[in-house]
Amino acid sequence: MSDCIFCKMIDGEIKPDIVLETDSVLVFHDINPQAPTHVLIIPKRHIPTMNDLEPEDAKLMGDLCLAARKVAEREGVSGNFRTTINCGRDGGQEVFHLHMHLLGWPPS
Ligand code: AMP
Ligand code: ZN
Repeated sequence: MSDCIFCKMIDGEIKPDIVLETDSVLVFHDINPQAPTHVLIIPKRHIPTMNDLEPEDAKLMGDLCLAARKVAEREGVSGNFRTTINCGRDGGQEVFHLHMHLLGWPPS
């Protein structure tokens, strides 16, 4: 998708602050963090929203969860994090390339 900001990151046209890259997902820091750790985990394939998922995307969504787990561990927030996938404008989605937010806080 040529007009998708996250696809431009995957293509290297825009350079995000990358924390993890695998064959299927890219993880980078959110530009407007809402927690001490706030990263976005995106599939490398353009899928607009959760409503566009097909059964064959099950492994890809598992890859997003496993990337979240790995980054949470690396960032020291394994026991203190939240993941969110907003879906649709009224669900709070602003960028229409499916993404998982990982918000984490240091242990108290
Ligand atoms: P959502 O509201 O779930 O669609 O989340 C979109 C997220 O993308 C927001 O938290 C934004 O801060 C973040 N965002 C938008 N543009 C960029 C960018 N260029 N680099 C990093 N994060 C971004
Ligand atoms: Zn895209």
